[in-house]
Amino acid sequence: MHKLLENIDEILLMGPGPSCIAPSVYSALSKPTLGHMDSDFINIMDAIKENLRILFQTENRLTVPMSGTGSAGMETCFVNLIETGDNVLILVNGVFAQRMADVASRLGANVDTIEFEWGTPVLADQVKDKLNEKDYQILGMIHAETSTGVCNPAEQISQLLAGSDTLYILDTVTSLGGIPVKIDEWGVDAVYSGSQKCLSCPPGLSPVSFSERAIQKLQNRKNKVPNWYLDLSMIINYWEGKKRAYHHTAPVNMLYGLCEALDLIMKEGMDHVFERHRKNHEALVKGIEGLGLNMLVRPDARLPMLNAITIPDGADDESVRTTLRKEYKIEIGAGLGPLAGKVWRIGLMGHTAREENVEKFLNALGKTL
Ligand SMILES: *Cc1c(COP(=O)(O)O)cnc(C)c1O
Repeated sequence: MHKLLENIDEILLMGPGPSCIAPSVYSALSKPTLGHMDSDFINIMDAIKENLRILFQTENRLTVPMSGTGSAGMETCFVNLIETGDNVLILVNGVFAQRMADVASRLGANVDTIEFEWGTPVLADQVKDKLNEKDYQILGMIHAETSTGVCNPAEQISQLLAGSDTLYILDTVTSLGGIPVKIDEWGVDAVYSGSQKCLSCPPGLSPVSFSERAIQKLQNRKNKVPNWYLDLSMIINYWEGKKRAYHHTAPVNMLYGLCEALDLIMKEGMDHVFERHRKNHEALVKGIEGLGLNMLVRPDARLPMLNAITIPDGADDESVRTTLRKEYKIEIGAGLGPLAGKVWRIGLMGHTAREENVEKFLNALGKTL
């Protein structure tokens, strides 16, 4: 094997993703590659779709993993659903919502944003006022804002949209597999996630799901989807039906990995998985406060899988992260945008969310500080 690969260290991944990978997922990745039209492979694809529906808590027939990272899922939702001139409202309280606004504006939409302070959640009342002022074809929000550690009120926003024609796009890249995501109950029309956060797969796949209403908008478009690779009206012919049609070569082994990662979640039980995230988050917060440090986000808006810690006076952001990486083989995340240099981001995602990892990190951080 190439010597650069031989020498890769095992790093405890406690940043904003990728997260630690379970041994059986690594084994799945190295299984023999099948042809992408092979009937045995198609059975694997069907098993993935079924487990994704369970995890998204949806009956949506169009539920598939896109080839690409979480951002490809974001692009998929917007490129399939936006038509030139559509009014799009994005609720912004972090980097990923800013990215949503960028993606939507490149597609010729009229994009409005409502900005909320980073580290605080979206406020439904302000959204309600905006929705009363103007008709929007699409509203986009991030469920778990990984840049700040805030959980946004996905259900409350769905209540504001009930009975309207506005399509609801929700980013669940970091929430899926770590906290409940209830696509049908919340009336979400298009949702996407990513393989390398709480699903604990390597980066490279982005599960998406579209409601019947979203599919209708896609089918009634005046113009073709302006992106060949991500056009769901074509991709569905590969992922569905008795006879499958080639679109692009599926990343076969990556899909083995996702199949196994989803199976691990199902075997442990979704509720147990969510509970494990919550417990380890609570243990981390207790330890952090025990070290005299503070969490950025107020308790009721915190995500269990992404913990933003305020960097204490006198500690050097970069040298602490470097020491953790070099001496303890632990990766944590830096702050982004207005929070750069102000917070560390500690991920407890998927296979990372285990007691021994919380202990190892608290020990290492205590000694480093
Ligand atoms: C990580 C992340 C993305 C982007 O995913 P990539 O895999 O980096 O493309 C989008 N949204 C959120 C909330 C994320 O955490």
